Amino acid sequence: MTDRAMWIGGEHVTAAEWIDSRDPATEEVVGRVPAGGAAEVDRAVAAARDAFDGWRWTAANDRAELLHEAYAKSMAHHEELVELLVREQGKPRPEQEEEAEWALTSLRYYAELGRNGLGRVVPSAEPRTQLNLVLKEPYGVVGAIVPWNYPLLLLSWKLAPALAAGNTVVIKPSELTSLVTLEWIERCFDHFPPGVVNVVTGNGADAGEALVRHPDVRVVAMTGSVATGQRIASVAAPMMKHLHLELGGKDAFVVAPDADLGSAVDALAYAALLNAGQVCTSSERVFVPAGMREDFAEALTDKVAALRLGHGLEDGTDLGPLADDRFRDKVDAHVRDAVERGAKVLTGGRRPDRPGYFYAPTVLVDVDDGMVIMTEETFGPTIPLASYDRFDEVIDRVNASEMGLGATLRSSDPLLIKRFYEGVKAGTVWINDPLTDNYAGPFGGMKMTGGGRELGPEGLETFLETKHVHWDFDQTRKDWWFPYA
Ligand code: NAD
Repeated sequence: MTDRAMWIGGEHVTAAEWIDSRDPATEEVVGRVPAGGAAEVDRAVAAARDAFDGWRWTAANDRAELLHEAYAKSMAHHEELVELLVREQGKPRPEQEEEAEWALTSLRYYAELGRNGLGRVVPSAEPRTQLNLVLKEPYGVVGAIVPWNYPLLLLSWKLAPALAAGNTVVIKPSELTSLVTLEWIERCFDHFPPGVVNVVTGNGADAGEALVRHPDVRVVAMTGSVATGQRIASVAAPMMKHLHLELGGKDAFVVAPDADLGSAVDALAYAALLNAGQVCTSSERVFVPAGMREDFAEALTDKVAALRLGHGLEDGTDLGPLADDRFRDKVDAHVRDAVERGAKVLTGGRRPDRPGYFYAPTVLVDVDDGMVIMTEETFGPTIPLASYDRFDEVIDRVNASEMGLGATLRSSDPLLIKRFYEGVKAGTVWINDPLTDNYAGPFGGMKMTGGGRELGPEGLETFLETKHVHWDFDQTRKDWWFPYA
């Protein structure tokens, strides 16, 4: 078992209380982190504020080199990070390796993007004697609040651009994945000037909210649930903070009439069950043409029933556990509600008889769009199959969700594809290849998912404030100044 201290101003800091971190596949305690609160947040924000001036005026090229060095250290430390990710977060090793690789590459992407420019020159009214500059400046101290489902990836999408833009950062990881966050930051960012990167661990309502409330934190970049996003927005509103919120989803997966059934089943199983369905862009609502419904359900059930549950470090594990018992309860409640209202479970629909927060991957048919499992985020290994008669109807049903993160279509028909990506209200539309991100392609949601964008130039822009400078080289009085003749 490991105990880890917080990382504030380049020093280890503990608190009076501790939080256990458990392996969700065994329910055993892996380690403990301090339960920080307002005092520790004050200390971290003060360290970040003190470091800001030096960091802001560090040359962008030097900042880039430090980010590259963090990448090199992370690569050298890759195996330990992946193992701790599995133990603390639960998904199988191949998925954790992918997460670590994605997280690390975004350090390199933003290191290079940060070298590129800090605004632009725009045409002046008097081009010979005036200069008009659009400057992009760092805000100051950024509060980065991170969930547990992709703890390093979603941190890196905030940390790398915030640092490349010249901000200093206070990180508040999820209570469930603080050990791996501390391990990464302390080992791989220890060459940054003290105070540039800080980690305060603790509960959301204590450490998280203290960070949002702190007057010296000008930007709050948070990924998490809609409810937490709403709470943060209401706390931050009186201080007019810049908010970057990446919230929940209820993504649809649509099989077009021309789709190949076998590969659509494989794509859906991946899109719905990756990380045991605990992906913000998990496919949580599936629409298949009515004529394909029975064959599709049968092939999907065969596929899903053959998947192997297990500890993420065991070879051959396809699905790990849910991150916590309360999340499993929610998944089970959604399945029970659907069954009570007429849905049929074709496979799964139960907790397996073993330790750990496992839930058997589940396929449901005879669902209707009003069931809780089709309207609220389930965040678990469930696949509710609905059917449709006309393609136009399905676009309206996709858009019926109050969230708008992503949507997937399986088709090779260009007319249907174009109608789909133009008609769907979602931040990302995947045609045939679900859940694939692109460093240069902005990621984020519409509607209740929040309007932030990570990745791409937009992901850097979030951490830069815009200033317009109008500069006249000539001090001669203007003839339109008072008095009016
Ligand atoms: P959560 O909202 O419970 O917690 C997210 C973070 O916010 C944690 O660090 C938590 O401690 C902190 N927090 C909680 N209450 C707070 C408060 N009052 N003030 C400040 N901080 C507070 O979410 P979770 O369970 O960790 O993650 C799952 C959710 O995240 C799902 O809804 C999922 O869809 C969403 N998510 C969204 C994206 C995206 O990019 N849109 C990506 C991954 C996960």
